[in-house]
Amino acid sequence: MPEKIEETLKKLAADTSKAGSTTESGARKSNTQLGDPNCPHCNGIGYLRRELPLDHPQFGKLEICSCRDAAVRDRIRSRLFQFSHLDKLKQLTFETFNPKGRTGLGELQQASLENAHNLARDFAKSPNGWLFIQGRFGCGKTHLAASIANESVTNGTPTLFITVPDLLDSLRFTFNDKSISFENRFNEIRQAPLLILDDFGTQSVTEWAKEKLFQILNFRYINLLPTVITTNLVLGEIDGRLRSRLEEHRMVRHIKINAPDYRRKDDERGQHELSSLVQHEKQTFGTFNLRQSERMLHDDVKSLDTAFRVTQAYSEDPSGWIVISGLHGCGKTHLAAAIANYRASLGHQVMFIGTPDLLDHLRATFNPSSTTSYDRLFDEIRNSRLLVLDDLKTKNASSWAREKLIQIIDYRYNSNLPTVITTADEFENLDPSIQSRIRDERLTRILTISAPAFRGKRNRKVKR
Ligand SMILES: [Zn+2]
Repeated sequence: MPEKIEETLKKLAADTSKAGSTTESGARKSNTQLGDPNCPHCNGIGYLRRELPLDHPQFGKLEICSCRDAAVRDRIRSRLFQFSHLDKLKQLTFETFNPKGRTGLGELQQASLENAHNLARDFAKSPNGWLFIQGRFGCGKTHLAASIANESVTNGTPTLFITVPDLLDSLRFTFNDKSISFENRFNEIRQAPLLILDDFGTQSVTEWAKEKLFQILNFRYINLLPTVITTNLVLGEIDGRLRSRLEEHRMVRHIKINAPDYRRKDDERGQHELSSLVQHEKQTFGTFNLRQSERMLHDDVKSLDTAFRVTQAYSEDPSGWIVISGLHGCGKTHLAAAIANYRASLGHQVMFIGTPDLLDHLRATFNPSSTTSYDRLFDEIRNSRLLVLDDLKTKNASSWAREKLIQIIDYRYNSNLPTVITTADEFENLDPSIQSRIRDERLTRILTISAPAFRGKRNRKVKR
Protein backbone atom coordinates (compact mmCIF):
# COMPACT_ATOMS: atom_id res chain seq x y z
CA MET A 1 0.00 0.00 0.00
CA PRO A 2 1.42 3.42 -0.95
CA GLU A 3 2.73 5.64 1.81
CA LYS A 4 0.05 8.24 1.16
CA ILE A 5 -2.68 5.88 2.25
CA GLU A 6 -0.80 4.97 5.40
CA GLU A 7 -0.59 8.63 6.28
CA THR A 8 -4.22 9.05 5.51
CA LEU A 9 -5.13 6.14 7.72
CA LYS A 10 -3.26 7.67 10.61
CA LYS A 11 -4.96 11.02 10.17
CA LEU A 12 -8.28 9.31 9.86
CA ALA A 13 -7.65 7.26 12.96
CA ALA A 14 -6.67 10.37 14.88
CA ASP A 15 -9.87 12.05 13.76
CA THR A 16 -12.17 9.18 14.57
CA SER A 17 -10.74 8.70 18.05
CA LYS A 18 -10.57 12.30 19.10
CA ALA A 19 -13.25 12.24 21.75
CA GLY A 20 -11.65 12.37 25.22
CA SER A 21 -8.26 11.10 24.12
CA THR A 22 -6.57 13.91 22.27
CA THR A 23 -4.63 15.11 25.30
CA GLU A 24 -2.18 13.23 27.38
CA SER A 25 -4.26 13.61 30.51
CA GLY A 26 -7.28 12.24 28.68
CA ALA A 27 -5.35 9.14 27.70
CA ARG A 28 -4.03 8.64 31.19
CA LYS A 29 -7.45 8.98 32.72
CA SER A 30 -8.87 6.31 30.47
CA ASN A 31 -6.04 4.08 31.67
CA THR A 32 -6.74 1.39 29.08
CA GLN A 33 -3.99 -0.48 27.31
CA LEU A 34 -5.02 -0.04 23.70
CA GLY A 35 -1.70 -1.00 22.16
CA ASP A 36 0.35 -4.16 21.97
CA PRO A 37 1.71 -4.85 25.50
CA ASN A 38 5.09 -5.76 23.97
CA CYS A 39 5.33 -2.64 21.80
CA PRO A 40 8.77 -1.00 22.18
CA HIS A 41 7.38 2.43 21.28
CA CYS A 42 4.39 2.89 23.55
CA ASN A 43 4.71 -0.02 25.99
CA GLY A 44 1.15 -0.94 25.30
CA ILE A 45 -0.49 2.43 25.88
CA GLY A 46 -1.31 2.72 22.20
CA TYR A 47 -0.49 6.43 21.98
CA LEU A 48 2.72 8.37 21.51
CA ARG A 49 3.64 11.96 22.12
CA ARG A 50 6.06 13.46 19.68
CA GLU A 51 8.79 15.85 20.83
CA LEU A 52 7.57 19.18 19.51
CA PRO A 53 8.28 22.84 20.19
CA LEU A 54 5.85 24.54 22.54
CA ASP A 55 4.22 26.66 19.86
CA HIS A 56 3.59 23.70 17.53
CA PRO A 57 -0.15 23.15 17.00
CA GLN A 58 0.28 19.46 17.75
CA PHE A 59 2.19 20.09 20.98
CA GLY A 60 0.89 18.00 23.84
CA LYS A 61 -1.37 15.98 21.56
CA LEU A 62 -1.13 12.26 21.20
CA GLU A 63 -0.67 10.18 18.13
CA ILE A 64 -1.79 6.64 17.63
CA CYS A 65 1.12 4.22 17.84
CA SER A 66 1.97 2.11 14.81
CA CYS A 67 1.31 -1.07 16.79
CA ARG A 68 -2.39 -0.26 16.48
CA ASP A 69 -2.41 0.25 12.71
CA ALA A 70 -4.14 -3.04 12.01
CA ALA A 71 -6.84 -2.46 14.61
CA VAL A 72 -7.38 1.11 13.44
CA ARG A 73 -7.58 0.00 9.87
CA ASP A 74 -10.14 -2.65 10.78
CA ARG A 75 -12.25 -0.10 12.56
CA ILE A 76 -12.10 2.37 9.68
CA ARG A 77 -12.88 -0.38 7.25
CA SER A 78 -15.97 -1.52 9.08
CA ARG A 79 -17.14 2.06 9.65
CA LEU A 80 -16.81 2.90 5.97
CA PHE A 81 -18.40 -0.41 5.04
CA GLN A 82 -21.49 0.38 7.12
CA PHE A 83 -21.57 3.93 5.88
CA SER A 84 -21.44 2.63 2.29
CA HIS A 85 -24.38 0.24 2.68
CA LEU A 86 -22.24 -2.21 0.75
CA ASP A 87 -24.07 -5.05 2.45
CA LYS A 88 -27.02 -4.15 0.21
CA LEU A 89 -24.84 -4.01 -2.91
CA LYS A 90 -22.89 -7.19 -2.38
CA GLN A 91 -24.49 -8.90 -5.37
CA LEU A 92 -23.06 -6.22 -7.68
CA THR A 93 -19.69 -7.77 -8.52
CA PHE A 94 -17.55 -8.24 -11.61
CA GLU A 95 -18.75 -11.84 -11.69
CA THR A 96 -22.39 -10.79 -12.01
CA PHE A 97 -21.64 -8.05 -14.56
CA ASN A 98 -22.38 -9.15 -18.09
CA PRO A 99 -19.79 -7.44 -20.30
CA LYS A 100 -21.72 -8.52 -23.37
CA GLY A 101 -24.61 -6.41 -22.16
CA ARG A 102 -28.24 -7.05 -22.79
CA THR A 103 -29.45 -8.54 -26.01
CA GLY A 104 -29.94 -6.07 -28.79
CA LEU A 105 -26.73 -4.14 -28.21
CA GLY A 106 -24.72 -3.26 -31.28
CA GLU A 107 -21.16 -4.47 -31.71
CA LEU A 108 -19.63 -1.17 -30.72
CA GLN A 109 -21.83 -0.85 -27.67
CA GLN A 110 -20.80 -4.32 -26.59
CA ALA A 111 -17.16 -3.43 -27.15
CA SER A 112 -17.49 -0.30 -25.02
CA LEU A 113 -19.10 -2.24 -22.17
CA GLU A 114 -16.40 -4.86 -22.33
CA ASN A 115 -13.69 -2.22 -22.33
CA ALA A 116 -15.29 -0.50 -19.33
CA HIS A 117 -15.47 -3.81 -17.51
CA ASN A 118 -11.79 -4.54 -18.12
CA LEU A 119 -10.58 -1.10 -17.07
CA ALA A 120 -12.71 -1.14 -13.91
CA ARG A 121 -11.36 -4.57 -13.07
CA ASP A 122 -7.77 -3.42 -13.48
CA PHE A 123 -8.45 -0.42 -11.30
CA ALA A 124 -10.00 -2.57 -8.56
CA LYS A 125 -6.88 -4.77 -8.42
CA SER A 126 -4.74 -1.82 -7.34
CA PRO A 127 -6.66 1.43 -6.98
CA ASN A 128 -4.49 4.22 -8.28
CA GLY A 129 -5.41 7.66 -9.57
CA TRP A 130 -8.95 8.51 -10.58
CA LEU A 131 -11.47 6.69 -12.71
CA PHE A 132 -14.19 8.75 -14.39
CA ILE A 133 -16.99 6.52 -15.69
CA GLN A 134 -19.41 8.28 -17.98
CA GLY A 135 -22.56 6.86 -19.53
CA ARG A 136 -26.30 7.25 -19.72
CA PHE A 137 -28.78 6.06 -17.12
CA GLY A 138 -28.96 2.32 -16.87
CA CYS A 139 -25.78 1.65 -18.88
CA GLY A 140 -24.17 -0.40 -16.10
CA LYS A 141 -21.85 2.17 -14.53
CA THR A 142 -23.23 1.76 -10.99
CA HIS A 143 -22.79 -1.98 -11.25
CA LEU A 144 -19.14 -1.46 -12.23
CA ALA A 145 -18.57 1.08 -9.45
CA ALA A 146 -20.09 -1.25 -6.85
CA SER A 147 -17.97 -4.11 -8.23
CA ILE A 148 -14.84 -2.03 -7.66
CA ALA A 149 -16.03 -1.29 -4.10
CA ASN A 150 -16.77 -4.93 -3.33
CA GLU A 151 -13.47 -6.12 -4.71
CA SER A 152 -11.36 -3.53 -2.92
CA VAL A 153 -13.15 -4.19 0.37
CA THR A 154 -12.38 -7.87 -0.08
CA ASN A 155 -8.74 -6.94 -0.69
CA GLY A 156 -8.70 -5.02 2.58
CA THR A 157 -8.84 -1.44 1.29
CA PRO A 158 -11.16 0.70 3.39
CA THR A 159 -13.66 1.93 0.83
CA LEU A 160 -16.45 4.45 0.88
CA PHE A 161 -19.12 3.93 -1.78
CA ILE A 162 -21.69 6.69 -1.70
CA THR A 163 -24.02 8.61 -3.97
CA VAL A 164 -23.52 12.35 -4.03
CA PRO A 165 -26.98 13.12 -2.54
CA ASP A 166 -26.26 10.72 0.35
CA LEU A 167 -22.87 12.24 0.88
CA LEU A 168 -24.33 15.74 1.10
CA ASP A 169 -27.10 14.55 3.43
CA SER A 170 -24.59 12.87 5.70
CA LEU A 171 -22.74 16.18 5.97
CA ARG A 172 -25.92 18.20 6.56
CA PHE A 173 -27.18 15.82 9.26
CA THR A 174 -24.06 16.27 11.36
CA PHE A 175 -25.45 19.69 12.28
CA ASN A 176 -28.06 18.02 14.49
CA ASP A 177 -26.14 14.84 15.31
CA LYS A 178 -24.15 14.82 18.55
CA SER A 179 -22.29 11.56 17.84
CA ILE A 180 -20.14 13.00 15.05
CA SER A 181 -18.98 16.49 14.23
CA PHE A 182 -19.16 17.99 10.78
CA GLU A 183 -15.36 18.16 10.63
CA ASN A 184 -14.94 14.49 11.46
CA ARG A 185 -17.50 13.38 8.92
CA PHE A 186 -15.99 15.68 6.31
CA ASN A 187 -12.52 14.28 6.96
CA GLU A 188 -13.79 10.73 6.97
CA ILE A 189 -15.13 11.25 3.45
CA ARG A 190 -12.30 13.23 1.93
CA GLN A 191 -9.60 10.99 3.40
CA ALA A 192 -11.21 7.63 2.72
CA PRO A 193 -8.49 5.39 1.22
CA LEU A 194 -10.82 4.72 -1.71
CA LEU A 195 -13.81 6.94 -2.43
CA ILE A 196 -16.43 5.90 -4.96
CA LEU A 197 -18.91 8.63 -5.79
CA ASP A 198 -21.83 7.16 -7.63
CA ASP A 199 -24.13 9.17 -9.85
CA PHE A 200 -22.36 12.47 -9.75
CA GLY A 201 -24.54 15.25 -11.11
CA THR A 202 -27.92 14.23 -9.75
CA GLN A 203 -27.41 16.37 -6.64
CA SER A 204 -29.21 19.64 -6.16
CA VAL A 205 -26.69 22.30 -6.87
CA THR A 206 -26.75 24.74 -3.99
CA GLU A 207 -23.63 26.81 -3.67
CA TRP A 208 -22.90 25.11 -0.37
CA ALA A 209 -23.14 21.63 -1.93
CA LYS A 210 -20.99 22.66 -4.87
CA GLU A 211 -18.35 24.04 -2.56
CA LYS A 212 -18.24 20.98 -0.27
CA LEU A 213 -17.99 18.60 -3.20
CA PHE A 214 -15.22 20.61 -4.72
CA GLN A 215 -13.33 20.73 -1.42
CA ILE A 216 -13.58 16.97 -1.02
CA LEU A 217 -12.52 16.20 -4.56
CA ASN A 218 -9.83 18.84 -4.67
CA PHE A 219 -8.30 17.45 -1.48
CA ARG A 220 -8.28 13.97 -2.98
CA TYR A 221 -6.84 15.28 -6.20
CA ILE A 222 -3.97 17.10 -4.49
CA ASN A 223 -3.23 14.10 -2.26
CA LEU A 224 -3.47 11.59 -5.13
CA LEU A 225 -6.16 9.60 -3.33
CA PRO A 226 -7.84 6.88 -5.42
CA THR A 227 -11.29 8.02 -6.46
CA VAL A 228 -14.00 6.70 -8.77
CA ILE A 229 -16.72 8.98 -10.10
CA THR A 230 -19.66 7.78 -12.16
CA THR A 231 -21.88 10.25 -13.96
CA ASN A 232 -24.36 10.62 -16.75
CA LEU A 233 -23.11 14.14 -17.36
CA VAL A 234 -20.75 15.08 -20.13
CA LEU A 235 -17.64 17.03 -19.15
CA GLY A 236 -19.07 20.31 -20.41
CA GLU A 237 -21.89 20.06 -17.89
CA ILE A 238 -19.51 19.86 -14.93
CA ASP A 239 -18.47 22.90 -12.92
CA GLY A 240 -15.31 24.43 -14.39
CA ARG A 241 -12.97 23.99 -11.41
CA LEU A 242 -13.74 20.32 -11.09
CA ARG A 243 -13.77 19.84 -14.84
CA SER A 244 -10.21 21.08 -15.10
CA ARG A 245 -9.18 18.40 -12.57
CA LEU A 246 -11.05 15.74 -14.51
CA GLU A 247 -9.31 16.78 -17.70
CA GLU A 248 -5.90 16.07 -16.19
CA HIS A 249 -5.30 12.87 -18.09
CA ARG A 250 -2.18 11.83 -16.21
CA MET A 251 -4.32 11.52 -13.09
CA VAL A 252 -7.76 10.64 -14.42
CA ARG A 253 -8.68 7.72 -16.64
CA HIS A 254 -11.90 8.21 -18.58
CA ILE A 255 -14.28 5.41 -19.41
CA LYS A 256 -17.18 6.17 -21.66
CA ILE A 257 -19.91 3.55 -21.91
CA ASN A 258 -21.88 3.74 -25.14
CA ALA A 259 -25.03 1.86 -24.38
CA PRO A 260 -28.56 2.87 -25.20
CA ASP A 261 -30.60 4.49 -22.48
CA TYR A 262 -33.65 2.38 -21.94
CA ARG A 263 -35.46 5.18 -20.18
CA ARG A 264 -35.18 7.48 -23.12
CA LYS A 265 -37.59 7.67 -25.99
CA ASP A 266 -35.21 6.08 -28.47
CA ASP A 267 -37.04 3.92 -30.95
CA GLU A 268 -36.75 0.16 -30.92
CA ARG A 269 -33.65 0.24 -33.07
CA GLY A 270 -31.79 2.36 -30.56
CA GLN A 271 -32.13 5.55 -32.56
CA HIS A 272 -31.42 8.79 -30.76
CA GLU A 273 -34.57 10.86 -30.28
CA LEU A 274 -33.14 13.62 -32.47
CA SER A 275 -32.40 11.31 -35.33
CA SER A 276 -35.02 11.73 -38.02
CA LEU A 277 -34.11 8.46 -39.73
CA VAL A 278 -37.58 7.09 -39.07
CA GLN A 279 -38.91 9.62 -41.59
CA HIS A 280 -36.53 8.13 -44.15
CA GLU A 281 -37.04 4.47 -43.32
CA LYS A 282 -38.17 3.60 -46.84
CA GLN A 283 -35.00 5.04 -48.34
CA THR A 284 -32.83 1.96 -48.56
CA PHE A 285 -30.41 0.66 -51.18
CA GLY A 286 -33.16 -1.73 -52.21
CA THR A 287 -35.56 1.08 -53.06
CA PHE A 288 -33.01 3.31 -54.81
CA ASN A 289 -33.82 4.06 -58.43
CA LEU A 290 -30.78 4.11 -60.70
CA ARG A 291 -32.98 5.76 -63.34
CA GLN A 292 -31.51 3.77 -66.17
CA SER A 293 -34.78 3.95 -68.10
CA GLU A 294 -34.68 7.75 -68.15
CA ARG A 295 -33.08 9.49 -71.06
CA MET A 296 -30.12 11.00 -69.26
CA LEU A 297 -26.63 11.80 -70.32
CA HIS A 298 -24.25 8.91 -69.97
CA ASP A 299 -22.17 10.80 -67.36
CA ASP A 300 -25.26 11.55 -65.27
CA VAL A 301 -26.24 7.88 -65.19
CA LYS A 302 -22.68 6.97 -64.35
CA SER A 303 -22.51 9.48 -61.47
CA LEU A 304 -25.62 7.93 -59.93
CA ASP A 305 -24.26 4.45 -60.38
CA THR A 306 -20.92 5.35 -58.79
CA ALA A 307 -22.61 7.07 -55.86
CA PHE A 308 -24.79 4.01 -55.35
CA ARG A 309 -21.87 1.55 -55.39
CA VAL A 310 -19.59 3.65 -53.17
CA THR A 311 -22.25 4.35 -50.55
CA GLN A 312 -23.30 0.73 -50.46
CA ALA A 313 -19.71 -0.40 -49.90
CA TYR A 314 -19.27 2.30 -47.26
CA SER A 315 -22.35 1.08 -45.39
CA GLU A 316 -20.69 -2.29 -44.86
CA ASP A 317 -17.80 -0.75 -42.96
CA PRO A 318 -18.00 3.01 -42.53
CA SER A 319 -14.65 4.70 -42.11
CA GLY A 320 -13.67 8.16 -43.23
CA TRP A 321 -16.16 10.58 -44.72
CA ILE A 322 -18.52 10.56 -47.65
CA VAL A 323 -19.69 13.85 -49.11
CA ILE A 324 -22.51 13.62 -51.65
CA SER A 325 -23.25 16.73 -53.63
CA GLY A 326 -25.89 17.31 -56.25
CA LEU A 327 -29.09 19.15 -57.00
CA HIS A 328 -32.14 18.83 -54.79
CA GLY A 329 -33.98 15.69 -55.72
CA CYS A 330 -31.00 13.95 -57.36
CA GLY A 331 -31.06 11.08 -54.84
CA LYS A 332 -28.31 12.12 -52.43
CA THR A 333 -30.52 12.10 -49.33
CA HIS A 334 -31.86 8.70 -50.34
CA LEU A 335 -28.32 7.27 -50.46
CA ALA A 336 -27.30 8.91 -47.19
CA ALA A 337 -30.45 7.51 -45.53
CA ALA A 338 -29.75 4.11 -47.09
CA ILE A 339 -26.34 4.02 -45.37
CA ALA A 340 -27.94 5.00 -42.05
CA ASN A 341 -30.81 2.51 -42.39
CA TYR A 342 -28.44 -0.31 -43.19
CA ARG A 343 -26.20 0.46 -40.18
CA ALA A 344 -29.22 0.79 -37.89
CA SER A 345 -30.56 -2.54 -39.11
CA LEU A 346 -27.30 -4.11 -37.91
CA GLY A 347 -27.82 -2.56 -34.47
CA HIS A 348 -25.32 0.27 -34.80
CA GLN A 349 -25.91 3.69 -33.40
CA VAL A 350 -26.59 6.22 -36.13
CA MET A 351 -27.60 9.84 -36.06
CA PHE A 352 -29.34 11.08 -39.18
CA ILE A 353 -30.18 14.74 -38.99
CA GLY A 354 -30.92 17.63 -41.34
CA THR A 355 -28.65 20.61 -40.76
CA PRO A 356 -31.51 23.09 -40.11
CA ASP A 357 -33.03 20.65 -37.57
CA LEU A 358 -29.71 20.17 -35.86
CA LEU A 359 -29.31 23.90 -35.35
CA ASP A 360 -32.91 24.22 -34.13
CA HIS A 361 -32.36 21.48 -31.56
CA LEU A 362 -29.21 23.12 -30.29
CA ARG A 363 -30.95 26.49 -30.03
CA ALA A 364 -33.90 24.94 -28.22
CA THR A 365 -31.69 23.81 -25.35
CA PHE A 366 -31.29 27.47 -24.38
CA ASN A 367 -35.01 27.59 -23.60
CA PRO A 368 -35.35 27.52 -19.78
CA SER A 369 -37.93 24.73 -20.00
CA SER A 370 -35.59 22.48 -22.00
CA THR A 371 -34.82 19.20 -20.25
CA THR A 372 -31.60 18.67 -22.19
CA SER A 373 -28.54 20.82 -21.76
CA TYR A 374 -26.78 22.32 -24.72
CA ASP A 375 -23.50 20.64 -23.76
CA ARG A 376 -25.08 17.22 -23.58
CA LEU A 377 -26.79 17.52 -26.93
CA PHE A 378 -23.74 18.98 -28.60
CA ASP A 379 -21.64 16.18 -27.19
CA GLU A 380 -24.08 13.50 -28.34
CA ILE A 381 -24.17 14.87 -31.86
CA ARG A 382 -20.48 15.36 -32.35
CA ASN A 383 -19.63 11.99 -30.79
CA SER A 384 -22.25 9.87 -32.51
CA ARG A 385 -20.74 6.73 -34.01
CA LEU A 386 -22.00 7.58 -37.45
CA LEU A 387 -23.31 11.04 -38.20
CA VAL A 388 -25.32 11.73 -41.32
CA LEU A 389 -25.61 15.45 -41.81
CA ASP A 390 -28.22 16.00 -44.47
CA ASP A 391 -28.45 19.19 -46.51
CA LEU A 392 -25.42 21.07 -45.25
CA LYS A 393 -25.43 24.75 -46.13
CA THR A 394 -23.72 27.71 -44.57
CA LYS A 395 -24.40 30.47 -47.07
CA ASN A 396 -27.10 32.35 -45.17
CA ALA A 397 -26.33 30.86 -41.77
CA SER A 398 -25.92 33.15 -38.78
CA SER A 399 -22.43 33.37 -37.35
CA TRP A 400 -23.62 31.31 -34.37
CA ALA A 401 -24.95 28.53 -36.61
CA ARG A 402 -21.83 28.63 -38.76
CA GLU A 403 -19.63 28.34 -35.69
CA LYS A 404 -21.59 25.32 -34.36
CA LEU A 405 -21.33 23.53 -37.68
CA ILE A 406 -17.62 24.25 -37.88
CA GLN A 407 -17.12 22.94 -34.35
CA ILE A 408 -18.96 19.69 -35.06
CA ILE A 409 -17.21 19.15 -38.38
CA ASP A 410 -13.79 20.03 -36.94
CA TYR A 411 -14.25 17.70 -34.02
CA ARG A 412 -15.28 14.79 -36.19
CA TYR A 413 -12.50 15.54 -38.63
CA ASN A 414 -9.85 15.57 -35.89
CA SER A 415 -11.27 12.44 -34.27
CA ASN A 416 -11.65 10.71 -37.61
CA LEU A 417 -15.28 9.78 -36.91
CA PRO A 418 -17.35 8.32 -39.78
CA THR A 419 -19.50 11.07 -41.24
CA VAL A 420 -21.79 11.37 -44.25
CA ILE A 421 -22.64 14.83 -45.54
CA THR A 422 -25.02 15.79 -48.30
CA THR A 423 -25.13 19.25 -49.80
CA ALA A 424 -26.88 20.96 -52.66
CA ASP A 425 -24.51 23.91 -52.41
CA GLU A 426 -21.47 24.45 -54.55
CA PHE A 427 -18.44 23.84 -52.32
CA GLU A 428 -17.40 27.42 -52.99
CA ASN A 429 -20.50 28.56 -51.13
CA LEU A 430 -19.64 26.61 -48.00
CA ASP A 431 -17.68 28.14 -45.18
CA PRO A 432 -13.94 28.04 -46.10
CA SER A 433 -12.90 26.04 -43.05
CA ILE A 434 -15.61 23.43 -43.73
CA GLN A 435 -14.51 23.35 -47.38
CA SER A 436 -10.94 22.62 -46.38
CA ARG A 437 -12.08 19.69 -44.22
CA ILE A 438 -14.34 18.06 -46.76
CA ARG A 439 -11.88 18.54 -49.57
CA ASP A 440 -9.21 16.60 -47.68
CA GLU A 441 -8.87 13.56 -49.90
CA ARG A 442 -7.10 11.54 -47.22
CA LEU A 443 -10.37 11.52 -45.30
CA THR A 444 -13.18 12.22 -47.70
CA ARG A 445 -14.62 10.56 -50.74
CA ILE A 446 -16.56 13.17 -52.70
CA LEU A 447 -19.45 11.89 -54.80
CA THR A 448 -20.91 14.38 -57.21
CA ILE A 449 -24.25 13.37 -58.65
CA SER A 450 -24.72 15.29 -61.88
CA ALA A 451 -28.15 13.83 -62.65
CA PRO A 452 -31.05 16.28 -62.66
CA ALA A 453 -33.78 16.10 -60.05
CA PHE A 454 -35.85 12.96 -60.20
CA ARG A 455 -39.42 13.96 -61.00
CA GLY A 456 -41.18 11.29 -62.97
CA LYS A 457 -43.38 8.87 -61.15
CA ARG A 458 -44.14 7.46 -64.59
CA ASN A 459 -40.70 5.91 -64.72
CA ARG A 460 -41.04 4.53 -61.23
CA LYS A 461 -39.17 1.31 -61.29
CA VAL A 462 -37.55 -0.24 -58.29
CA LYS A 463 -34.13 -1.54 -59.10
CA ARG A 464 -32.36 -4.33 -57.29
ZN1 LIG B 1 2.79 0.80 20.41
